Amino acid sequence: MKFNEQLEKRFAVKQLVEKLGAVFPVFGVTKSGACHCKEGAACTNIGKHPIWWLVRHGHTEATRDMAVVNEWFSRTRLYGMNIGLVANEDWFALDIDPRHDGDKSLARLQEQFGALPKTVTSRTGSNGQHLLFLAPKDGRRVKSVANALGAEFPGIDVKGGGNGYIVAPPSKHKSGGVYRWEEGLGPGDTELASAPEWLLERVVAKPRERRQDTPIPAMITEQDRKRAAGLLEWAAEEVASAAEGTRNPTLYAKSFFIGTLVGGGFLLRSDAESALIDAAQAAGLSKRESERTVESGLNGGEDNPQGLPDDTERQAERKKQWLIEHGYYVEPLSVYEMIAQHDQKGGGR
Ligand SMILES: [Zn+2]
Repeated sequence: MKFNEQLEKRFAVKQLVEKLGAVFPVFGVTKSGACHCKEGAACTNIGKHPIWWLVRHGHTEATRDMAVVNEWFSRTRLYGMNIGLVANEDWFALDIDPRHDGDKSLARLQEQFGALPKTVTSRTGSNGQHLLFLAPKDGRRVKSVANALGAEFPGIDVKGGGNGYIVAPPSKHKSGGVYRWEEGLGPGDTELASAPEWLLERVVAKPRERRQDTPIPAMITEQDRKRAAGLLEWAAEEVASAAEGTRNPTLYAKSFFIGTLVGGGFLLRSDAESALIDAAQAAGLSKRESERTVESGLNGGEDNPQGLPDDTERQAERKKQWLIEHGYYVEPLSVYEMIAQHDQKGGGR
């Protein structure tokens, strides 16, 4: 990539970070429109997924630290990188996809409910748009949902709540197009607008119906619950950052595992469900597919209740403590130490 182009890019990203938040590296696009990942032209998400060798946990490793961002630029200087911008808690994006009639849906929405205010808006490389609005500050949460405005208004996804991201200017699109800010609507030119109530009503997360919650037995300690909640968070992260083609199997395996903990009484089923379904949708699975896979995974796991996976380690630790207290304990030798002792005794080799 040309030096000037690189400088411009770094400047643009600095502004992006200052105004809109954390970014992470996304695979770039070759001159012929292939992905820079190893799948190349066969990639099903060309120029839109995290560079796994820079951010192992995908968008969850996004940063506002320009030193880190510049390091990413340096390490990808030969072929450039695209910019992933996390839709954080402060704002959300309407992702308008014209291939699924999102542009028509947007026009019809505004006819029906009123014009949307001018706000930070980018033109995507495929001639779609990202419209960014301030998130509500009254406790309601916007979540990433595909086709968020229902079947009546197809082609509009919502990205928000920290579990979604958009590809931001100045990234490249597989079509050869470049993501750019609409004239006068860049983050340096205009402020994020508040969304009208009719839009908020349609994009905030509805409280999920709780069902089949088995009360957590009293013998399970607060610490156990904390560790189980940590495992749920870990599982959700694994799902959210699963590579294309492995998402559904990963979702099933992690749901099954978490199901065993629900069955063991360490977690509430409803907490497990919402965390895993959110993560699956953030990874790009449809709502319906996510719900179905999580349901069957959790069901399977619940039928096979398990203790926390490190219980055996804790038991081993307790056994060791007992041996120490009773004076039986001898620190086991490593293989190397045993070999060294053997050699010293004249055992030779
Ligand atoms: Zn790719």
